[in-house]
Amino acid sequence: MSVKQNTERYGERTKLRDPYLLSKAYPEPTICPTCGLVFHKKRWSRDAQILSIVSNVAEKHKCPACRKIEDHYVMGFVSIIGTFFPTIKNEIINIIHNQEKKEMVRNPLARIMSLNNKDDTIMVETTNDNLAIAIGKALKRSHGGELNVNYASNEQFARVSWRRDLEVGSKPAK
Ligand SMILES: [Zn+2]
Repeated sequence: MSVKQNTERYGERTKLRDPYLLSKAYPEPTICPTCGLVFHKKRWSRDAQILSIVSNVAEKHKCPACRKIEDHYVMGFVSIIGTFFPTIKNEIINIIHNQEKKEMVRNPLARIMSLNNKDDTIMVETTNDNLAIAIGKALKRSHGGELNVNYASNEQFARVSWRRDLEVGSKPAK
């Protein structure tokens, strides 16, 4: 099991610039008509109580996550490769969705934008870098393998890859 060095440096990196958080000051309160998040006290949250209180007076504007999804502005990219994952594909996909749920408790703007399984790869696009990294770490935690996290200096997103191959002679899990 090896974790490449760039994964270890994760904690020290500078935060990615997120133009969707900076470019638009939302009036308060604002409700996202697409996902129902409320912008209140300078933050977005999923709160049914606040939503019901402000729903008549709030302005309606799409939240940064829904705008990113609409614009296909990807900030995290996970590729899952190797001969191991197809043997437990459903479990892997569950782990991915569970990480989204967990991450959304902390940051409701963290979303999976797309999840595609083509041939021998699963590719996941996310609205923020932390969710992509959380997915990679969860896969490594539960199934070992090799995790890579890269921030290319000329890109505004995190590229995460997780790979595990079946050991020679081992039977695929059913
Ligand atoms: Zn939204």
